[in-house]
Amino acid sequence: MTRFPFTEAMPIQFQAPLPKDAEVVIIGGGIIGVTTALFLARRNISVTLLEKGRIAGEQSSRNWGWIRQQGRDADELPIVIEAQRLWRQLAEECGEDIGLKQTGVTYLARTDKEMAGFAKFLKIAEMHGVDTRLLDQGETARLIPSMSRPFKGAMTTPSDMRAEPWVAVPALARLAARQGVTIIENCAARMLDISAGRISGVWTEQGRIVTSNVVVASGAWTSLFLRAHGVSIPQLSVRSTVAATQPMPEIHSGAVADEHIAFRRRQDGGYTLASGGSSQLYVGPDAFRHARKYVPALMANPLGIRYLPAAPRGYPDSWSTPRKWNADEESPFERIRILDPAPKASALRDIDREFTALFPQFKTVPLKASWAGMIDAMPDVVPIVDRAAEIPGLVIATGMSGHGFGIGPGMGRVVSDLVQGNETGHSLHRFRQSRFSDGSPIELGPSL
Ligand SMILES: Cc1cc2nc3c(=O)[nH]c(=O)nc-3n(C[C@H](O)[C@H](O)[C@H](O)COP(=O)(O)OP(=O)(O)OC[C@H]3O[C@@H](n4cnc5c(N)ncnc54)[C@H](O)[C@@H]3O)c2cc1C
Repeated sequence: MTRFPFTEAMPIQFQAPLPKDAEVVIIGGGIIGVTTALFLARRNISVTLLEKGRIAGEQSSRNWGWIRQQGRDADELPIVIEAQRLWRQLAEECGEDIGLKQTGVTYLARTDKEMAGFAKFLKIAEMHGVDTRLLDQGETARLIPSMSRPFKGAMTTPSDMRAEPWVAVPALARLAARQGVTIIENCAARMLDISAGRISGVWTEQGRIVTSNVVVASGAWTSLFLRAHGVSIPQLSVRSTVAATQPMPEIHSGAVADEHIAFRRRQDGGYTLASGGSSQLYVGPDAFRHARKYVPALMANPLGIRYLPAAPRGYPDSWSTPRKWNADEESPFERIRILDPAPKASALRDIDREFTALFPQFKTVPLKASWAGMIDAMPDVVPIVDRAAEIPGLVIATGMSGHGFGIGPGMGRVVSDLVQGNETGHSLHRFRQSRFSDGSPIELGPSL
């Protein structure tokens, strides 16, 4: 088995010198930062994108590669519908094969309760003209004929897509660079420079860049970065384990999940797999600080997450990670350039057990690689996409809560307009920062 391809040993691809100034500085080179930068550059705005490690080194390469409308929060759905259109357009423009294919997403149900949950989403899908439909037992069996057991039914969205994350996001970054974005890898943003109450620049490990607009799209590191500037968001990160098989006979061309196993055909003929119980939260100071906000999510799915007493050294919510630092000293972001958590051994065993139970024609799962990623989670499972109330000039785009890859280009387009003060085209009320401090009840997004 091989390790995940994105490590610090990987050559640096983007190493422009740090400019003196930029109209917008983006902190974080995942799908959100890269696509925001791309759409800003298309408006002739000068953008510098800072990435502490490698473009897409964290969540944006480690994800399952599902681009789904199915099961989305009602306020995310219009943005992901736009994202689907943008994915097609960007796949053409970047001139590289990013593995974009419309092969559908399907959720399998074992119980009437699950089918009832699907039916609720169907109403939202219909309102937006999405082709989601429910399947009965026979239709489900015909969709994936080699499954060993019957299912009560399924929900399926044929127009949903997939792409290869670790190919797609670097390809989009190359497109952004060609369109004028200055991208600098191995360059952590240490602190915001704030003068007279608003942003005047960013201190990086390579010096200061003058700017009055910053987008923090730093994934699992966002709350640590913001808190050092007095901005508190209840974001935690959760480890999730993934496995990739060797090429194998096709059982289904799209992406499928039930409570126990998720699988997605890859372009190389293998499958990307994950098991139902593969998420763990490392308990640290932020987990205690924000625990109350996570009570509704815990009550809705008490067994959804396992807990570990402490994160590895240097992780965003590790007990020993400094919460304050100076602009002229090494920051936590340089100490871990790529969050590369070890996959959980028992999750890999679960994957093997569940997959071979469902497809007994495979005696064992021929794994090629396994890895894990840290998902940036929010208490209500939807992101913050907003101007920070505390610091004029600062935009927060984070907490994609395990589904930011598919929606990425749509969010990037939205964030680029938010930065410019334009109409964003979609209501961002659901994603406002203040929902966690103004007494609003936590409205849980779907856990589908
Ligand atoms: C196992 C797993 C499976 C998933 N499956 C799916 C899926 O199938 N479909 C889907 O839609 N989504 C999925 N997701 C979620 C999706 O991957 C994320 O929501 C999305 O990639 C988030 O993108 P991002 O740009 O916000 O963050 P990231 O990709 O995490 O990027 C943030 C970047 O910021 C950089 N950074 C942080 N701090 C600094 C700093 N101070 N200075 C400079 N750079 C900094 C980091 O190094 C990192 O590269 C999955 C996630 C995981 C982990």
